[in-house]
Amino acid sequence: MDKRFTGKTVVITGGNKGIGFAMAERFAAEGARIVIASVEDQVHEAAESLRSSGAEAAGVLCDVTDIAQVRALYDVASDRFGGVDISIQNAGIITIAKVEDLTQAEWDATMSVNTKGVFLCCQEAIRRMRAQGRGGKLINTASGQARDGFIYTPHYAASKFGVMGLTQSLAKEVALDGITVNAICPGIIRTEMWDYNDRVWGRMLGDYGPGELMESWVQNIPMKRAGEGKDVAGLVAFLASQDADYITGQTINVDGGLIMS
Ligand code: NDP
Repeated sequence: MDKRFTGKTVVITGGNKGIGFAMAERFAAEGARIVIASVEDQVHEAAESLRSSGAEAAGVLCDVTDIAQVRALYDVASDRFGGVDISIQNAGIITIAKVEDLTQAEWDATMSVNTKGVFLCCQEAIRRMRAQGRGGKLINTASGQARDGFIYTPHYAASKFGVMGLTQSLAKEVALDGITVNAICPGIIRTEMWDYNDRVWGRMLGDYGPGELMESWVQNIPMKRAGEGKDVAGLVAFLASQDADYITGQTINVDGGLIMS
């Protein structure tokens, strides 16, 4: 595989598992130095696994809703790896509830992680990239739900629509600094989050057994398969590469064509 990111440092929130870890593996394979962040101790094991593949990698406990922890995360990139070149705001949470049952606490937590957390990381990354003066790439994980919403997740859909808005606004503000800001909309991707969705939506939408709802939705995907983390990682690696230098403020679907069905 090409080593397009040799000498570059990438920060990935939610990088210990699922889509984020697949991104970390892709950047490791392409020569980047990697800082992954999450709230569970598993982040250290994930970083160790990247190091065992030969990558320079650090795992940092960081709640993206806390500005002090976010600053400390980017300090690791600066102190250990000479700065940040690529920042991927990927941490996210979801809950599923009927509108009358959705609590304010769920609404606030979802907005806080999925939208405010993305903003705080973008803000800190931009501050550092501007000071470094060598440009940079920001990529934010939105969702197919940022295109047309979905039943029982108004808070999640709103939080991801918010990611698209802040992506476009920031892209305009930092364009002359050589910094691009883009977002991605994964469709149905096999991760722990999807296991939760399958279980809870499956119960609420009908009498589905484990995996059955997922399989029925996969039939709506023109490519007739769920996505894997590496499908998303390929798009993110492109957006982080020089080949995407003239792409900014965009939100790109990676969903096997699901948006069309
Ligand atoms: P996972 O549930 O597998 O991973 C979520 C990640 O976010 C974990 O690393 C988790 O850390 C981290 N995280 C949660 N809260 C915080 C927080 N406060 N601070 C820092 N990290 C946090 O989900 P996926 O890999 O599936 O999802 C990754 C992103 O992709 C999310 O933004 C999600 O909304 C989005 N997405 C996923 C889709 C799918 O089908 N899977 C579809 C569309 C979008 P920890 O493990 O430590 O809790």
